[in-house]
Amino acid sequence: MVTIERKSFGLHDIVEMKKPHPCGTNAWKVIRMGMDIRMKCTGCGHSVLLPRSRFEKRLKKVLISAAEQEKEPKKPPESL
Ligand SMILES: [Zn+2]
Repeated sequence: MVTIERKSFGLHDIVEMKKPHPCGTNAWKVIRMGMDIRMKCTGCGHSVLLPRSRFEKRLKKVLISAAEQEKEPKKPPESL
């Protein structure tokens, strides 16, 4: 079952935070979901672990949803 969040984000989404990383990039990839959220700066590759509540406070918006990416078949589906 899928739980609806106030701000919906998922694994492998690219998200924008309220404050950019010191490297100047404000695009983070969610690489781990759970009690804590681990996200990786797409600019320098630095990864940060945040409690979910803090992540949600800092989250500005989802730039690229991994789920939406899957809807667009950019590459042919793997066949056996
Ligand atoms: Zn960075």
